[in-house]
Amino acid sequence: MFEAVIGLEVHVQLSTRTKMFCGCANHYGAPPNTQTCPVCLGLPGALPALNREAVRMALALGLSVDARIQPHSTFYRKQYFYPDLPKGYQITQGPVAIVEEGCLEIPGDAAVRGGEGLVPIRLERAHLEEDAGKSHHDLDGQNSHVDLNRAGVPLLEIVGAPDLRSAQEASDYLKALHRLVVALGICDGNMEEGSFRCDANVSLRRVGEPFGTRVEVKNLNSFRFVRQALEHEIDRQAALLARGESVAMETRGWDAGVGETRGQRTKEAAMDYRYFPEPDLPVLTVDPAEIEAVRATLPERPDRQVRRWQEAYGLGAGETQTLAQSPAFAAYFEALAQASGSGKGAAAWLLGEVSRILNERGIGIEAFPVTPEALAGLVRLVESRAVSFGAAKEQVFPALLAGEGSAESIVARKGLAQVSDRGAIELLVAQVLAENPGPVAQIKAGKASLKGFLVGQVLKAGRGQLDAKAVNEILAEALAKD
Ligand code: ADP
Ligand code: ZN
Ligand code: MG
Repeated sequence: MFEAVIGLEVHVQLSTRTKMFCGCANHYGAPPNTQTCPVCLGLPGALPALNREAVRMALALGLSVDARIQPHSTFYRKQYFYPDLPKGYQITQGPVAIVEEGCLEIPGDAAVRGGEGLVPIRLERAHLEEDAGKSHHDLDGQNSHVDLNRAGVPLLEIVGAPDLRSAQEASDYLKALHRLVVALGICDGNMEEGSFRCDANVSLRRVGEPFGTRVEVKNLNSFRFVRQALEHEIDRQAALLARGESVAMETRGWDAGVGETRGQRTKEAAMDYRYFPEPDLPVLTVDPAEIEAVRATLPERPDRQVRRWQEAYGLGAGETQTLAQSPAFAAYFEALAQASGSGKGAAAWLLGEVSRILNERGIGIEAFPVTPEALAGLVRLVESRAVSFGAAKEQVFPALLAGEGSAESIVARKGLAQVSDRGAIELLVAQVLAENPGPVAQIKAGKASLKGFLVGQVLKAGRGQLDAKAVNEILAEALAKD
């Protein structure tokens, strides 16, 4: 049996106001070539100056994954020729990166880990670099156009260790990282616009053996593509190895239309980028005061938040991942759990009825019309069994959505208060037992399955307003007595 070994390289476009080494706006969607200057056009003699905001964003990421911040790191020139790279080189970081050796926790894939639980995924490094421009090719194949608005936009490249063991884990790791950079406010997270993109490295090995030859799948810009491309690539490599063939070290692309990876270039003919230190920029120096200033602004880490929810509220890993799907969703859950005093109840409503409405209407939690405080009123009524879950779901929730007042007032107006008063339930139980001597005798003769029938009769007699749990208890006591 083969085990997959996966490591992701993620490019995060930093949402600074201006570009990495010049004052041009860093804004997506402007008309082509309107956000350029001699520096990002690579005109001779133009000098770069480092954007400190990008440095602070790199620090925020580094501190959030408990990484080591390097006090000194150097920018390098990576030389290659391409039309959208006007300077003829990309400025990136050399052997020392500003951020090194961090760690992020993700839910492990039980299918390959032999059980549920969080697993640590190490980050090897995160370095600062500049993005290239964009080439657009006409459909008729006649002309290509180059837009340099993106040239010089700041990127943080996050290189993950080969610690992932399945396509599912790779996609979960990418989601965790995405959540983190969005929560930190260092990236808008827009994957369609390319603000957050990923190359995936994957190899197979027999468990316990050294790593196999890896293939790099380039430019995956959705969570689904990452999972599909890796699943496909794992199958392809497994088939090769099973036939006794070997995997070639190469770069492949994902063709989403066909659902296949395709060879692009082999790594043997690896490019020589002739790296050397960028002479026009000083060594990047970070002092402890700057690190502490950034640390003071950090929000709670999303992976820690998820763990806290699991521990404090007794929620499962899957549930908490869904609750943490976006910072806004997480904030809504947090507020609902606080206001209702029940994390479990809050999670059940959010993942149930609220999500159903969001899907139905195609909206995000930001546009959900009921505030967490108002919904908390309903959660509290259900948790305290003042209203049945059925009535809450069928009648109170829709009324709350329609803006018909607070949960309490809706329950009062519609007469939905649940009866859990012992005296009232005992009376109805006695009445139902008296009316059903046959089933009662059969239960006493051992046919326990008929109890459900009697419970149903009692609930019906209470016109759906009885607390089912109390009914069950009281009926069992009554049957045991006589
Ligand atoms: P390079 O020097 O070619 O960039 P690195 O060693 O820096 O290669 O690794 C680049 C990425 O490939 C990292 O994300 C790492 O986790 C991943 N990786 C390295 N070796 C393997 C392997 N054998 N299988 C899968 N992924 C790997
Ligand atoms: Zn510029
Ligand atoms: Mg590398």
